[in-house]
Amino acid sequence: MTAGTMHPDDLLGIEDELGAHNYKPLNVVLTRGEGVYVWDVDGNRYLDCLAAYSAVNQGHCHPKIYQTMIDQAKRLTLTSRAFHNDQLAPFYQEVCKLTNSSKVLPMNSGAEAVESAVKCVRKWGYEVKGVPDGEAEIIVCQNNFHGRTLAIVGFSTDPIARRHFGPFPPGFKVIPFGDAAALEAAITPNTVAFLVEPIQGEGGVIIPPDGYLRAVREICTRHNVTLVMDEIQTGLGRTGKLLAEEHEGVEADLTLVGKALSGGFYPVSAVLSTSEVLGVLQPGEHGSTFGGNPLACAIARTALKVLVEEGMIDNAATLGAYFLDGLRGIRSNKIRDVRGRGLMLAVEFHPEVGGARQFCETLKGEGILCKETHEDTIRFAPPLVITRDQVDWALERIQRVLTRA
Ligand SMILES: *Cc1c(COP(=O)(O)O)cnc(C)c1O
Repeated sequence: MTAGTMHPDDLLGIEDELGAHNYKPLNVVLTRGEGVYVWDVDGNRYLDCLAAYSAVNQGHCHPKIYQTMIDQAKRLTLTSRAFHNDQLAPFYQEVCKLTNSSKVLPMNSGAEAVESAVKCVRKWGYEVKGVPDGEAEIIVCQNNFHGRTLAIVGFSTDPIARRHFGPFPPGFKVIPFGDAAALEAAITPNTVAFLVEPIQGEGGVIIPPDGYLRAVREICTRHNVTLVMDEIQTGLGRTGKLLAEEHEGVEADLTLVGKALSGGFYPVSAVLSTSEVLGVLQPGEHGSTFGGNPLACAIARTALKVLVEEGMIDNAATLGAYFLDGLRGIRSNKIRDVRGRGLMLAVEFHPEVGGARQFCETLKGEGILCKETHEDTIRFAPPLVITRDQVDWALERIQRVLTRA
């Protein structure tokens, strides 16, 4: 046992007593990870099919990212943006080249990237588009997930995320996801942006109809509305492309990345811009003590590098299609739908089955960790370094659990 002398039950007891109860984790205490695997304090091995909500696309404790982190931590970790550091410029250059962007705003958490985008598109609206001050509107989608800050939960449609946290900042309008006509109808002269996930992740891996992203791109361009794609979960290889927007050949004006931008080592996020929007920021108007710090930049550079060099994006496309086929082959009257793109996969159960959580518990016993999203859906999103043999191993167990009487 590696957690000192403490028994796992003691650790759970202390968490329960001393921690805020804002999560309901599966009953497993992890202590080590490598590639697609994690180990609990009793030495049991699991295939990680959540990958920290797609933050460890590169696999747990990737050796090259680890080495970069150690090397940079020995040299310099934080300067604040009061001074320059020698990792920021190369990070900008590499992330811009890779994503075809022309400006970057580095932040830490995903929610901060979203908040930053909201601030920037409002400012752009007032200073460039000519919207009257204080009147800017941002259109978002039902069933969205963009994080947990006040502004963001204020435009969530999940009652649990909002309840008793108000009052919320105004200026957001909610339309159905996947409905381009609804976007067009909702736009007014004061609309500054449309904020959307290319595939709704926390919403249950909801894939919009073919052509949706192209249609919203065209509508936003025609109405001079900024298109903001939240690729914090879908981006960086998860769906089998570097960015999910590439599936329809579109480019957002602002693209938000986070999670796997560090391969799970450190909170690193960024707003990527192909347009003038980030250009509205002047010194002193926005910032973050840790944003753009040398440790974060060094880690992100290597995290992006290994994603490309080690073929993880292509692997997500190939093995994602293979995994999806395998899931679709499972014959069970409990299953309502199987869907996915790349290694962002989901099995949805009929409501009368009584929730997806029970299957997550049983799969844990079989050596697979995954998490229900909403009541009735399990997401399967392993690290992108998974092999065909490991997918076969997982499918055999998933099939056994889902077809058990
Ligand atoms: C996880 C997530 C966020 C929030 O990221 P945090 O780092 O948890 O703040 C925002 N948008 C999407 C689509 C996400 O999946």
